Parts: sequence; structure tokens; C-alpha cells
Amino acid sequence: MRNKLEHTGNEFYQLFSDQSLFTMAKDFLKGVQDSYDVVVIGSGLAGLTGANTLAKAGYSVLLLEHHYQLGGMATWFKRKGGHIFDISLHGFPVGMIKSCRKYWTQEIADKIVPLKGIRFENPQFSIETTFNREDFTQLLIEKFDIPAETVQAFFDTARSMNFFDDQEMTTRELFEKFFPGRDDVVRLLMEPISYANGSTLDDPAITYGIVFSNFMSKGVYTFRGGTDALIFQMREELEKNGVDIRIRSLVENIEIGPDRQVQGVVVNGKRIGCKAILSNSNIKSTILNLVGPENLDAEYVEETKAVRMNNSSCQVYIGMKPGVGFDYCGDLLFHSEHSGFDVDAMLSKDVSSRTFSFYYPETRPGSDRWLVVSSTNANYKDWADLSDEQYEADKKYLCEKTLDCLEQYVPDVREKVDWIEASTPRTFEHYTRHLQGASFGTKFEGLKVSQELPNQIGGLHHAGSVGIIMSGWLGAVNYGVIVSNEIDKYLTAQATSNE
Ligand SMILES: Cc1cc2nc3c(=O)[nH]c(=O)nc-3n(C[C@H](O)[C@H](O)[C@H](O)COP(=O)(O)OP(=O)(O)OC[C@H]3O[C@@H](n4cnc5c(N)ncnc54)[C@H](O)[C@@H]3O)c2cc1C
Repeated sequence: MRNKLEHTGNEFYQLFSDQSLFTMAKDFLKGVQDSYDVVVIGSGLAGLTGANTLAKAGYSVLLLEHHYQLGGMATWFKRKGGHIFDISLHGFPVGMIKSCRKYWTQEIADKIVPLKGIRFENPQFSIETTFNREDFTQLLIEKFDIPAETVQAFFDTARSMNFFDDQEMTTRELFEKFFPGRDDVVRLLMEPISYANGSTLDDPAITYGIVFSNFMSKGVYTFRGGTDALIFQMREELEKNGVDIRIRSLVENIEIGPDRQVQGVVVNGKRIGCKAILSNSNIKSTILNLVGPENLDAEYVEETKAVRMNNSSCQVYIGMKPGVGFDYCGDLLFHSEHSGFDVDAMLSKDVSSRTFSFYYPETRPGSDRWLVVSSTNANYKDWADLSDEQYEADKKYLCEKTLDCLEQYVPDVREKVDWIEASTPRTFEHYTRHLQGASFGTKFEGLKVSQELPNQIGGLHHAGSVGIIMSGWLGAVNYGVIVSNEIDKYLTAQATSNE
């Protein structure tokens, strides 16, 4: 029932996403082997990258994805009239070029291009920036009157932060140290990062320092051609490297042997053996549902239960009529009507802050489409328990309010619009199975739980959005690589001890 609610107006899609109808018609595991070296659960960017790295290292790899499309949150959808909407292609740091070149292909890396203009429009300031250190330094000195030495000291401190640093200091304390009482500066520095990974002033400062510095090194980048082109190219590469890819394949259980080592998975009711597993499924679901507390130390189970999920999102997707455009509005626009920076206001269902992503025809070369995606951070609980009727009404209201707001940047937008619809935390939960529809995985403590999983169950590893720093496109890709190296070490040690 939830499927049908998520995307009204496209019957073919509804039919396609009705698991029961489709699985009756087709065996998605037809021809699958009885066992593999590695099973990867989930095809988010961490799962895809892990699968590719392990296959290139010579392991037999089975990639299982419950959705009909690969990519996890890195996804897109099509609508009547030729509209293609990207969900999470708003911007990532330059590091993605190197990671894609090293762990994917030069061709993928070559399509990563910089965004030109990042805008802020709020009661405190109106700014357009290239969102890099040089431009921010100039802005902070000239527009915000901060002494040059303070700006440099702040950037150097943020840049030097790493995982092994003091994790006690919060982002609030970091800002208070350099810019006491300057809510406007905090807003400039923090608002985009809160949108990028859901972090707040109360999270450890290192999560801010690492992510902010990644962006500041060279600005914000995107993938020319759209998420569909990226994921199709990744799929081609996985197939070339011999990964057995199965969509519509829901892993229900991870099988653990008496010696607390992985033995296999149960997927769509079928058992498949393996020596190691990379789970890209939500960390809490992996541990508490797929493995089960009975197979783990009680203390670790408690630690897992205490991990807080990050926030979720709402989005409004707006497609203009074919060939109908709008003047340049920037690529990313952080709009807020709220007086100062306030995370609770950013999460509120009574929306006062939005990030608009403007997509021009160059996003998909050859296209004649101008599109806008409006994103807001959101609380799962505000949407979870609404009646079907109220849910539909609230989505409609969100669409209307978004158009009202967009009108100031795209005049006459209502006359130009051809397609509009909304997604909510329920949508993200449904498609990616993240608890509470978390857009960016877990808060910081989730990273430790993820890293310690192989100490609990031999051969079971997790890679995917956790701990803020391992979320986002770049974080997910890099975590996939780190964890596949761990799996390689584990399998090599196993093979040696069996000789
Ligand atoms: C609205 C929004 C906007 C965003 N914008 C940006 C952005 O601009 N820049 C950026 O860098 N990041 C952005 N992100 C975050 C980024 O998209 C994610 O952090 C990243 O894509 C997550 O990758 P992942 O590897 O953790 O896996 P996920 O994308 O979480 O994928 C996990 C996969 O596992 C599958 N799965 C789960 N359980 C099972 C199971 N039992 N069996 C089989 N399959 C299973 C799911 O179906 C899913 O495909 C955004 C996220 C959202 C929601």
C-alpha cells in the first residue's frame, strides 16, 4: 500500500514497484551459484564500490539489492513527459574525482565537474560563492569583518582535524572559539554542512572539520549526465569484473556458524553460502535484524541500540514543461526565512529553510529540461504515523508552499511547471530500508559499532553511511574501499590458515 502512496500519477511505476506482482512473475535469483567468496548486501555507493574492489581483487562476488534499481540513495526516477529527477545529486567534494578514477574508471572520473554558483539567501545575508577556501576567506574578511589571522587559524584548524583527534569538542565549541557571538558566521559555515550530512552544532567538531575542509579544498562538484548515467557505468564495470548482480533480492537473514563466523545469507527465501559478507544495509538493521542479538555480545547489542539515527529529508521535485526554462539562479541555493541558524527550524515540518538545486539542460547534455529539486531536512516522526489521507494532503501542502517560495527565484513558476511531487522520510525508508528513513546514516557513535562488527562475527563487515564522516557520496565510496581491504585481509588470512 505504501508504494502506491509514494508516487501517485504513474500507474506503470506503481505496478513495477509492487514486489508481490513482480516477484511472482520472475525468479530474480535464477542461475545463482550455491556459494560465493563474498556476498554484498545492498547497492548503495559503499556496496557498489566494495563489490567492485573485491571482484577486481579476484574474489567471486554476489551483489544483492532489494530495490529494482542499483544506487541506494544515489538514485533517480523518471516521470511521464520525459522528466528525470535526481535524488541526491546536489554536490560532493573534489575528492570524488580521485576515488572514482582509482576505484572505478577514468571515464566516470572525467564526468565529474564543478558547480559554478552556490547562493545563500536569508535574513542575515545574500551571497553567491564558489564555496572554496579562497572565496570564503575573502567573504569572511570583507563582508563579515573577521580578522584575516582568525580566518586563517580557523581554516587551518578545520583542515588539520582527523579521526584520531579529540572527539570531545563540539562544533558549537569550535565556532565559539573562533567566532564568539557571530550567529551570521556560524550560519554561513554550518548551514550547507547541516544540509549535506545532517550534522548539528552538538556533533563532534571533527565531523564538521573533515567534511567542511573536503568541500573547501576546491568547491562543490557534480556528475555530468545525471545519477542514472553514473550508476549505469558502474553497473557495466561491475559486470565486466564478474560481479553477479541481483536486484529485487531482499536479504532476510545472515547465517552465523557455531564458531561465530558468517556462513551465508538467506535471500528471497533461498540460502546462499559465503566466506565473508559486506553489509551496506543500515548498520542497526544489519546487527539487530539480519544477525540477531542472540549471536552477539550483550554489551555490543546495547551499544548498537544506543546508536542514534541521523535525520531524514523531504524533497519536492519540479519539472518544467519541455523547452521552458528560467534564468540562471545558481546551482545550489540555501534559502531561509528564519532569523538565524537553527537546526530545529531546519527540521521543522513548518518549513522555513530549503535548499534548491537547479538543474539546467547541461546536467544531461542534449536535454531540453530545466528542473528544480527542493530539499529540507526532516524528522521521521512528523511523517511516520499520518493516515493515508493526511499524508497525501501534507505532501500536497509541501508542494504548494515550495512553489510559493520558488516563485521569488523563478517568476511565473506555476505557469512553467509540468510535473511536481514530493517525497518524505517514509519514501526514503521504503526504498533504502534505512531506519527512520535516515538520509545520512547515523550519528558519530555509529562508526565505532560499524568498525567493530568483524570482531563480533568473523567475516561480517559493514560499509555505508555512519558517523557523519562516512556518509555522503564520497564518504560512502571511500568506506566501501576501506572495508573491502579489510575483507581481503580476512579472506587471505583464512586461506593461509586452511593451507
Ligand atoms: C535527499 C538526500 C540528498 C542527499 N544529497 C547528497 C549530496 O548532495 N551529496 C552527497 O554526497 N550525499 C548526499 N546524500 C547522501 C548520500 O546520498 C548517501 O550518504 C549515500 O548515497 C549513501 O550510500 P550508502 O553506501 O551508505 O548506501 P545507501 O544509499 O544507504 O544504500 C543502501 C542500499 O542497501 C539496500 N539494502 C538495505 N537492506 C537490504 C537488504 N536486507 N537486502 C538487500 N538490499 C538491502 C538498500 O535498498 C540500498 O540500496 C543525500 C541523501 C539524501 C537522502
